[in-house]
Amino acid sequence: MKILMMSVRDDEKAAIEGWAKRNNIQIDTVDWELHPDHVSELVGYDGIVIQQRSKVEAEVYPALKAAGIKQITTRTAGFDVIDLDAARKNNLIVTNVPAYSPRSVAELALAHTMRLIRKLEIFDARAAKQDFRWAGLQAAEIHSLTVGIIGAGRIGGTTAKIFNALGAKVIAHDLVEREELKPFVTYMKKEEVLQNADVICLHVDLNPSTFNLIGKDELALMKPTAYLVNECRGPVVDTDALIEALEQKEIAGAALDTLTGEENFFNFNLENKELPSQQLIKLRKMDNVILTPHVGFFTNIAVQNMVDISLDDVVMILDGKKSEHQVS
Ligand code: NAD
Repeated sequence: MKILMMSVRDDEKAAIEGWAKRNNIQIDTVDWELHPDHVSELVGYDGIVIQQRSKVEAEVYPALKAAGIKQITTRTAGFDVIDLDAARKNNLIVTNVPAYSPRSVAELALAHTMRLIRKLEIFDARAAKQDFRWAGLQAAEIHSLTVGIIGAGRIGGTTAKIFNALGAKVIAHDLVEREELKPFVTYMKKEEVLQNADVICLHVDLNPSTFNLIGKDELALMKPTAYLVNECRGPVVDTDALIEALEQKEIAGAALDTLTGEENFFNFNLENKELPSQQLIKLRKMDNVILTPHVGFFTNIAVQNMVDISLDDVVMILDGKKSEHQVS
């Protein structure tokens, strides 16, 4: 058996080599994405694993079938780059990795929250100017605060448990109230969470009901001392409304691991180049805003799991078994 892994980064290679050794299967890696100009290079492989932001084009699916490929496995949670209909028509089984490590994102929410409530971003900005005063920057201890989780699924539920373990009061809003989370959270309406929390952590998935879920009206409900932490998807927050709320001091600050339009700037080195987003330019100027380039997933455990789970699935499918991660 021979598997080709595409869009492989250097930081994934140790995990891939480890899996190949344990399973005694040849894994070849390339840095390119799955697009029509590369399909001829897949001939001779039994299985493929992808990870890409751009769509898999229509002509790729019949070409994969003609090359004898039976599956498309993406080692990401999202699989919107794959046309499931086209895959089905060409007998290609599609799998994803729905939960590679909820802790990876939840721990970033914790790190962002601690940075915000200790006002470390502001201390850093002062220190950069050789201003080492502490006046006006008294912090709050986490166990004295109420943390609000909007979207208490796999990641949000994990975040809730972490804050509960630290002694914070945790309140949550979700369309589904999970019994297993009730020892850790008090469920409320979205408006009540917004009004009562000192920190709001967003962990919904992006769907029509969560597009701009946090806009002008929702930000107006938050306490002026409260912080917003977005680790899920940029469009869940109306960025212009957020910038206005920060400028008007309607909220105290924000931490954003994701931002609308991020595909144009996150994970690029734009040093000495003009930034392609006015929103990004404005947010970068605020010392009560933390920006990280969509790195919630980027941990040792998550990267290992993305590799291991995706490759296990390829083998399972090639062996004629059904994977629990089949999305088609
Ligand atoms: P999940 O499906 O387990 O949880 C999402 C929760 O949101 C569900 O409980 C769902 O009921 C709830 N929800 C959906 N619409 C809602 C609405 N309108 N109001 C209230 N709740 C609503 O997903 P997950 O695995 O916890 O992941 C959540 C999101 O985190 C992902 O969809 C992805 O966008 C994001 N994510 C970010 C990173 C990162 O690197 N920052 C990594 C992985 C995932």
